[in-house]
Amino acid sequence: MELMDENFDPSSHPSVLELARLLSGEGNGGGVEEAEEDVQVKKVQQSLKCPLTGTYLEDPVSNSGCGHTYSRAAVMEHIRHRAVRAARCPVCSGPLTVSCLQPEPRLAKKVRRAKRKDGL
Ligand SMILES: [Zn+2]
Repeated sequence: MELMDENFDPSSHPSVLELARLLSGEGNGGGVEEAEEDVQVKKVQQSLKCPLTGTYLEDPVSNSGCGHTYSRAAVMEHIRHRAVRAARCPVCSGPLTVSCLQPEPRLAKKVRRAKRKDGL
């Protein structure tokens, strides 16, 4: 019985602890994220709201000149008000005309989803 070391506890040996950690899957987890379609939530505030109304885009259109987006009704109103002078983008002051507006059906879809999440 002299070979037995009373103080040797295999469960506290560093390599045993390391093995136990590897077996438990620790250090391996966290890498597997759910790659869902709603991953790009970071830009929601900026891109899903109309700079003119401050609310969610309705029938969103984008300015082909600068890429900013607005609610169609709001931007049409904005342009109509400036009928005498050239209207400008409310975000970057770039040129803004009816002819440079393009419908954004994909953005409209995102807005619908965001509104549903908000319970609107
Ligand atoms: Zn702009």
